[in-house]
Amino acid sequence: MFESEIVIGLEVHAELDTNTKLFCSCPREGNDKRNSRVCPICLGHPGSKPVMNKKVLDYGLRFGLAIGCNIAKSLVFSRKSYFYPDMAKNYQITQFEIPLCSNGIIKLSSGKKIKINRAHIEEDPAALTHPAGINDSAYVLVDYNRSGNPLIEIVTEPDMTSPNEARDFMKELIKILNYLEIFDTDSCIIKADANISIRESGYKRVEVKNITGFKEIERALMYEVERQKQAVSEGAEILMETRSWDAAKGITCSLRLKESEEDYGYITDPDLVPIDVSDELIETIKKNMPELHHAKLDKYKKNISEEDAKVISSNHKLAAIYDEVCEEIDPVFAGRWIRRELMRVMNYNKIEFEDLKIKPSHLIDLFKLIIEGSITDSVGQKIMEKLVEEPFDVNEYVNSNSLKTISDNSELKKICKQVINENPQAAEELKAGNTKSLNFMVGQVMRITKGKADAKKLVEIFKSIF
Ligand SMILES: [Zn+2]
Repeated sequence: MFESEIVIGLEVHAELDTNTKLFCSCPREGNDKRNSRVCPICLGHPGSKPVMNKKVLDYGLRFGLAIGCNIAKSLVFSRKSYFYPDMAKNYQITQFEIPLCSNGIIKLSSGKKIKINRAHIEEDPAALTHPAGINDSAYVLVDYNRSGNPLIEIVTEPDMTSPNEARDFMKELIKILNYLEIFDTDSCIIKADANISIRESGYKRVEVKNITGFKEIERALMYEVERQKQAVSEGAEILMETRSWDAAKGITCSLRLKESEEDYGYITDPDLVPIDVSDELIETIKKNMPELHHAKLDKYKKNISEEDAKVISSNHKLAAIYDEVCEEIDPVFAGRWIRRELMRVMNYNKIEFEDLKIKPSHLIDLFKLIIEGSITDSVGQKIMEKLVEEPFDVNEYVNSNSLKTISDNSELKKICKQVINENPQAAEELKAGNTKSLNFMVGQVMRITKGKADAKKLVEIFKSIF
């Protein structure tokens, strides 16, 4: 039935970046005091009636259309019955028979296509805390702040053949969600349940639940592959079961034998009438669809190096900055400076794109000064370091700190001569044609002028003196 050694399929739950919850007007995020963002609807009180947040439908459609899904004619919700403290009304509102989106494709960075079986909308359950760990706690604490938050569940076909591919899938998925502006990496949770099986066991499927982040997914699956191989080699049988991932210990533990969908007793939710997904709505969403990272990458590659294009297109915020800067600045210059200098400073200061205060207009001002030769590269680099810390008016800063390049040749010549007098040994070597001492002399002039001299011009001046 399968060809590969390892078979992996994922069910990913991504929280959608809305202001309010899926069926009530409680805020989706904000106050972290336990059980503070709740109302009778998200607490599941008897008699409370859910009302659908339309933004969630827009977001779901945006996702489905971006990955080429078929879209259902109407949005129908079902009740998934189960008894557990995280769901006070004893059922979760989700979609069952007709998901909003079906049959899409997400491409890995290698170009391999992963088939998406379905993507549907559902509500998040409450958060549970087991004070002494999941197996040893005498009681469990429930926080309903998360209860009723909107999720999109994305179910892949079992098309991945290594933990590394699963990691790559999560990365590509997050990029798409970010580019569509329906998911915020800072405030939204993304979690995956992974189905994994190996050839040696006859592909007995094990589900590992609740893995957060793409690094964790690779770790959890690598562990699980080894565990299954080990068990088979010792003659043990692999059980079709659900396991939990303990990130702290780096192991998976058995939770329960695998339940099937029939066990949940789905019924159509009588409180929520089906919502029409009209052709007009789909057209509107299509018209306003942002360009995704693959399209950006292809576009950038035409103008700049593939490496620069990859880095810039990998983050939607960086790509947006780059696009705006390119309206006024040569794309090659902008690409080089954003990738090398902006990212160097951000990495050094450990600043994430989400926290970046610099605006494209600051970069445009800075790049213009460098391109027209008003400031040198080295002054430009120093200004970039300051700008990332706290943005300011670049032109004013350059003027008030007298940072413009020294264009007066006689002034430069004077400084060059001063450096020669101060370094007779190096001057002798330079006379003998030593390039190392030429670089040294140029460096000295740069130091004295605080980087305000054009290095090429200095080389010419030194050569003209000797
Ligand atoms: Zn509520």
